[in-house]
Amino acid sequence: MKEIVAVDYENEVLAGGNVLVDFYSTECPPCEAIAPKLETLEKLFGKEIKFLKIFRQGNRELADKLGVKSSPTLLFYQDGEEVSARLTGGVKRSEIVRELKHVLGKERVSEIMKTQQPTVTNVDVAILGAGPGGLTAGLYLCQARINTVLVDIALPGGNVSTTHMVSNYPGFIDPQPGYMLSHNMSEQTKRCGTTYKVAVDVTHVDLQKKEILIDAQETIRAKRIIIATGTSPNRIGIPGELEFKGNGISYCATCDAKYFVDKEVVVIGGGNSAIEEADFISKFASKITIVHQFDQLQANKTAQEKAFANPKISFMLSHEPRAFKKAGEKMVVEVEDLKSKELKILNTDGIFVFIGQKPNLEIFENQLELDQWGYIKTDEDKRTNISDVFAVGDVTSKKYRQITTAIADGTIAAIAITREIG
Ligand SMILES: Cc1cc2nc3c(=O)[nH]c(=O)nc-3n(C[C@H](O)[C@H](O)[C@H](O)COP(=O)(O)OP(=O)(O)OC[C@H]3O[C@@H](n4cnc5c(N)ncnc54)[C@H](O)[C@@H]3O)c2cc1C
Repeated sequence: MKEIVAVDYENEVLAGGNVLVDFYSTECPPCEAIAPKLETLEKLFGKEIKFLKIFRQGNRELADKLGVKSSPTLLFYQDGEEVSARLTGGVKRSEIVRELKHVLGKERVSEIMKTQQPTVTNVDVAILGAGPGGLTAGLYLCQARINTVLVDIALPGGNVSTTHMVSNYPGFIDPQPGYMLSHNMSEQTKRCGTTYKVAVDVTHVDLQKKEILIDAQETIRAKRIIIATGTSPNRIGIPGELEFKGNGISYCATCDAKYFVDKEVVVIGGGNSAIEEADFISKFASKITIVHQFDQLQANKTAQEKAFANPKISFMLSHEPRAFKKAGEKMVVEVEDLKSKELKILNTDGIFVFIGQKPNLEIFENQLELDQWGYIKTDEDKRTNISDVFAVGDVTSKKYRQITTAIADGTIAAIAITREIG
């Protein structure tokens, strides 16, 4: 991609034509993730759209003037006018293609997309999921010089990257911000030489054939597959939850607590995540009401004691939410008192839901043997029922789901594979 600087902007971008501009930075994992996607798209669309990149830190005045605050940020222009939504963060190829439709039109983009050639990449091991389990397996395999690719639908890091503070990961005297811990894990594995294909759409997985189709275009063929897709937050499944998700209802305190400075918040749940995250939210919010279905909290004693001592936190035990609504700028939670059956109304600024996790298995479409709770059964070496397919971390059947147990699984699967194909 052609690189420009601020003084070129007028001529190269604003003077006319179709232009895509990538504001990038160095030492920026999402910028590294987007670069190969832009390269392949430039090959497809390069005759009709100019693909340009500009170093954000080196052209800060221009970036500020344009309101570009993070890297990467993609801007799309048609005849000097910005024509579509900006894309930032872990941008997927499909999202770029979607925005290109504003530049070239839907039909032209579809026509060009039909001309793209499918590609095949052969590797020894493909790991699905770059959380602690997948990253650790990637590290061990890489150090054993086994050709490995790590595939993730998001940026690397998994659930740790959105955990506020981690205090129980050995080797650090003080609690570590989750995003730093996951960043370090990811950089360690990347530096070793493992290939990353992250922020991609995993279109199809055939575990028998050991084939993974990504971005509906590239097939990864592997000798072994490790599934490390972890878990996602459970939904409550009540009216208003889907409607207001991301717009009043959040499942991630690290991501969203900062928007609730001096505001009131309702937290649903009573386990470790709910209580620890409520404590974190209390650094921002003025009042937190924890709604929990049982008459006692399920969190460990340390977390409970901290929450009980926090003057900003109050509790509605033996209560369950029944519906989420919106009234103007406020969120409304309808809560049932499970003892009296009385329906109560809570007016609040925001709602955080922490009621456990569910395994990310939709893409495997019943190919795997699961336990009664829906997690993948494995043997001692982390093998699944399908030959040459391993599973590690939170997605597997186990009693305790922690960073340390996920990385232990990743270690075991990688060593087992190294013994077979190393
Ligand atoms: C709020 C919260 C706080 C926590 N706090 C702690 C703590 O303090 N200490 C501790 O030890 N543990 C903690 N945990 C648990 C810990 O985060 C997990 O045990 C650990 O992250 C599991 O690692 P994993 O690699 O198995 O999965 P995850 O971390 O869940 O990573 C899975 C990865 O797979 C990707 N993925 C999903 N679907 C697909 C797909 N179809 N294809 C490709 N990739 C896919 C995801 O994007 C993700 O990056 C916490 C969990 C939560 C939710």
